[in-house]
This record gives sequence, structure tokens and C-alpha cells, in this order.
Amino acid sequence: MAALHGWRFCPVCGGGLRGGDDRLECEACGYVVYANPAPTASALVVDEHDRLLLARRAAEVEHGKWDLPGGFVEEGEDPIDALRRELREETGLTVEPVRLFGIWMDWYGSGDDRRSTLNLYWLARAVGGELAAADDVSELAWFGRDELPPREQIAFTNVPKVLAAWRDENA
Ligand SMILES: [Zn+2]
Repeated sequence: MAALHGWRFCPVCGGGLRGGDDRLECEACGYVVYANPAPTASALVVDEHDRLLLARRAAEVEHGKWDLPGGFVEEGEDPIDALRRELREETGLTVEPVRLFGIWMDWYGSGDDRRSTLNLYWLARAVGGELAAADDVSELAWFGRDELPPREQIAFTNVPKVLAAWRDENA
């Protein structure tokens, strides 16, 4: 809905656009654009002490809040490859997925420019690398099931739900 907010002209030829919030079509060249959610891939990396790795956000959106490390899947990229790439970029760790933990919808950003996101989460384990915050992350820390940050310090709407699901699993 919000992805196409304010679009008036075709990005290919400059012609006029017609359609609704979910789909626009160019009257001149026939170009069609859909307001699909953007997929992300993130990891619940758990260590041998059953602690979960969280990353403090350095990006503008949800700045300073705790998040699960991960990021947007690139065009044509396998989400598992996106998971490995994002974890390497943000945490320095080489990770291997253990199993898909779940899928949660959310919004990225705020107001008319916010984007719908489809967020994939894997349970994962570190198999190499050196833990070091980088890229869009200012700090990394391990949290036990009973040590998770309070809701107001956790980024987005879906991440607290993911953390609660992890905390309550096998609890
Ligand atoms: Zn056009």
C-alpha cells in the first residue's frame, strides 16, 4: 500500500500511471509495478550457553534499538545466502542455519513512505569468524532467555514477537 504512495509518473517513460494502491500501470508503455512486501533474512544465533545474539541498530530506522542480525534479500538472491551475507557483514560471524524458525510480517520506516516487510527467521549457529559489530550495527551482545531487553528497547513490531516465541520455546 505505502510502497507506491505518491507515484504519479512511469519510472521508465514518464507516462501517466493508473491503478490502485497495490498495482500501477503506465498508460503509455504498459510498465506495471506491484506494491509487494520486501523480504528480509535474519538469524537467531544461539551459543552453547543458550544465549541469543542481538545487535544494536546504528541505522536511522529504529536507531539504538536491539534487533536480530540480518537484512534485506537482494534481487535474485537465495534467502539463505542473504542470511550468511548479512551475518558476516554485521557480526563478523560465519553462520549455518539450523532450521527455519518462522515468518513474521511488519513495516519498515514510518508514515507514507513505510514499506511492508516479509521477515524470515532462522535458528542458526556460528561456525567461524570473529564477533565484531560492523555495518549497520553499533554493538553486539548475548542474552539469556530471562535476560532479554524490555519491549521498548527492541526494534520494530515483529522482533519482540520473535524473541517471545524463542523465549517460550522449550521454556
Ligand atoms: Zn511508461
